[in-house]
Amino acid sequence: MMTGNPAPRRLSIFGSTGSIGRNTLDVVDHLGGRENFEISVLTGNGNVELLARQARSFGARMAVTANDRHYQSLKNELSGSGITVAAGKSGLMEAADREADWVMAAIVGTAGLAPTLAAARRGADIALANKECLVSAGDLFIKSIHEGGGRLLPVDSEHNAIFQVLEENQRHAIERVILTASGGPFRTASLEEMAGVTVETARAHPNWSMGLKISIDSASMFNKALEMIEARHLFGLKPEQIEVIFHPQSIIHSMVGYSDGSVLAQLGTPDMRTAIGYALSFPPRPNLPVERLDFARLARLDFEAPDERRFPALRLARLAMTRGGVQGAVLNGAKEVALEAFIERRLSFLAMADITERVMDDLAHLPPASAMDDVFVADRLARQRAAELMKLDAAG
Ligand code: NAD
Ligand code: MG
Repeated sequence: MMTGNPAPRRLSIFGSTGSIGRNTLDVVDHLGGRENFEISVLTGNGNVELLARQARSFGARMAVTANDRHYQSLKNELSGSGITVAAGKSGLMEAADREADWVMAAIVGTAGLAPTLAAARRGADIALANKECLVSAGDLFIKSIHEGGGRLLPVDSEHNAIFQVLEENQRHAIERVILTASGGPFRTASLEEMAGVTVETARAHPNWSMGLKISIDSASMFNKALEMIEARHLFGLKPEQIEVIFHPQSIIHSMVGYSDGSVLAQLGTPDMRTAIGYALSFPPRPNLPVERLDFARLARLDFEAPDERRFPALRLARLAMTRGGVQGAVLNGAKEVALEAFIERRLSFLAMADITERVMDDLAHLPPASAMDDVFVADRLARQRAAELMKLDAAG
């Protein structure tokens, strides 16, 4: 029963200056902005000017830069605004401790893990864009959500699509989920061509506009690999129930196959605001100004099986899922170090998967995680081992 105006929902956006974060604020704006929402915390990293502008215009209570060195400049930018300013890892944990009903987890990489877990334990609904939380912490992250009592709302477009068409009361009848992948810029490239790929060609995604790391991960299919592991934990699936299909138009965002042969799909133009809006308004659907699909103009939708020889990341995801334990954290940690090296031009495009697989093999003996510390240890060991292997390769 509603009496009078309900209290505005309190939102926090971790990673508000990024691609997902900016889209989230755009959706908030379309859905009434400060009239309907109270912004508790916004966080960023290097882009202090944008963070300050966002905090002022949305009337945030607190703004946090993840980088200690930017504390003073953020403080200066926000002087006289009454907005609390904090910085560094401790600042992010303070952010996670602030009251919020809904938190957008859109910090890129493992840096997003600790604050998102803390917010989950406090009981906020978590709109999850950051995939590393589930890839690395898996069931422990799900457990934190259950303990906190909030909801986990997938924002990654594939998982959001599955969330939209997954019939909760038909869970027993789910046979498989089918994750779509555009195939990225190298879908039709030869192995020889892929050996010479540069950061500039890898970052140019054909359909989606995203941050640098996720764009390169999309080109190497590591993004899809992380998404397979993410889907497994989100929807409680067995590895063999998760399929990947290339679909170059990125119109079908993913599908669920049921025991009667039916396949339910979610379609839309490639615009993250649909997924973000769904997670923000759930269960009702919001009104959003995203471009509508024009089927006559589209004319066709194409599909093709991915070639795992050219995209070994998909095979590595399956390996991590069947091995279980902390292999997800190891895959992710090793991949992040390899990706960093590729961005800095110290490693070739195809060597990213090679390094990751060797690290996964070398650390296959690690026991399953019983607490978050075990996850952080696995992550650290994977990073160390990846760095060692790259050094050995460079020397030999
Ligand atoms: P982005 O690089 O555009 O933004 C990342 C955000 O994290 C920024 O606000 C940045 O300031 C912050 N950040 C960077 N390093 C940090 C650190 N060390 N500590 C704290 N904060 C830090 O990335 P994005 O494209 O917005 O993606 C964000 C997350 O969402 C990623 O995990 C990505 O995989 C996931 N995701 C993105 C998309 C997309 O369309 N962009 C789609 C699905 C999932
Ligand atoms: Mg995705």
